[in-house]
Amino acid sequence: MFRCETAILGGGASGLMLASLLGPRHDYRILEGNATIGAKIAVSGGGRCNLTNRRLDPRRYRGDERFISRIFARYDNRWLLDWFGRQGLEPVLRKRWQYFCPHSAQEVIGIFRRRISPSKLLVSTRIEGVEPADGGFRIRTDRGTGTARRVVVATGGMSYPRLGASGIGLKIAEALGHPVVPTAPALVGLTLQKGEFFFKSLSGIAVPVRITLAERAIESDLLFAHRGISGPAVLDASLWWERGEIAVDFLPGFALESLTRSPRQLTSPLPLPRRAAKAFLDALGVRDMAGRRCDAETLKRLERLKDYRFAPAGTMGYSRAEAMRGGVATDGIDPDTMQSRKCPELYFVGEVLDVTGEVGGYNFQWAFSSAAVCAEAIES
Ligand SMILES: Cc1cc2nc3c(=O)[nH]c(=O)nc-3n(C[C@H](O)[C@H](O)[C@H](O)COP(=O)(O)OP(=O)(O)OC[C@H]3O[C@@H](n4cnc5c(N)ncnc54)[C@H](O)[C@@H]3O)c2cc1C
Repeated sequence: MFRCETAILGGGASGLMLASLLGPRHDYRILEGNATIGAKIAVSGGGRCNLTNRRLDPRRYRGDERFISRIFARYDNRWLLDWFGRQGLEPVLRKRWQYFCPHSAQEVIGIFRRRISPSKLLVSTRIEGVEPADGGFRIRTDRGTGTARRVVVATGGMSYPRLGASGIGLKIAEALGHPVVPTAPALVGLTLQKGEFFFKSLSGIAVPVRITLAERAIESDLLFAHRGISGPAVLDASLWWERGEIAVDFLPGFALESLTRSPRQLTSPLPLPRRAAKAFLDALGVRDMAGRRCDAETLKRLERLKDYRFAPAGTMGYSRAEAMRGGVATDGIDPDTMQSRKCPELYFVGEVLDVTGEVGGYNFQWAFSSAAVCAEAIES
């Protein structure tokens, strides 16, 4: 079916960046199951692709901090912005720290299309497995078998299967001797147990919160959703959440004692949308009374709003998750090349690895930076 020097498995963010950096003379093929490349790029960031973040920090990733730092020490957000600048794309800063395409995510896909010859793109080709063969690799697909001297696994994680995601990269890794850190949906909404079912009546309301879990504090918005809770604070929390309790401060920066000086009904001075304030007062068994009539017992009940502890039932699953956490264990990968320490000429880049960032452009930055390290190693 094909014979080449380098087979790049997956035509998503990391595979496309790798191919773009390898240049036109390199003998590679990109194998992609979808009919088009970059499906996740196209839908990302509300259609404008949040490429990276001004505050790039390995601590915003779940994974081995030292491994991640090694990659960013060479290819960071400035490198990425410069690179896109040289391709004629000037990302714009929005939401204070996040860089987006000025108009559309198609601008990124267009850059990759210009740098990658269509003759090197094998689309609508589903990868089924990889085996070592004759000093290289045999790659089985639903359209036949090809061979390559070198394989780069860039097949991403398992989130959004409708956009082509599959667990094939993990299967290939395990078959070639690489342990996989247990995977789970990440950057995803959380579902509720009975005690919090009343949250569902608030569907559509967003409130600023501070969520504490796993010795981390996350400050951003929580969105009450039909199936549970979502919004940026919850998506980030899902990256770190192990089954068990989280604590939500629904009144960050608000001193409860100030209520006792208010002549107005509690639902007015409480800094929550009125419908949410009412639902919480009902749930806490507090009557809506003038703030200054609050006694110590009432204040004690209201304190729960500042430290609302509950155990979510689970996540909304891979069909809604922006990322997968876990993946190919990075201790089996050389961070200077992205090459396997167990199987020469096998490389891993992007989300298939056990590295997952928070919301805010961190995951594309990882995909692009790990691809750049790999490209440099292959070309050297
Ligand atoms: C809705 C959504 C919005 C997002 N928004 C952002 C954002 O704004 N900023 C950000 O940083 N991150 C965002 N992400 C996360 C980001 O898209 C991923 O982390 C990133 O795309 C990972 O790059 P990758 O190359 O590792 O994998 P992918 O981009 O997923 O590419 C993997 C490719 O491999 C192909 N593939 C998989 N299995 C097979 C197979 N068996 N055969 C053939 N091909 C296969 C897939 O079709 C896919 O094209 C978002 C994710 C989602 C789902």
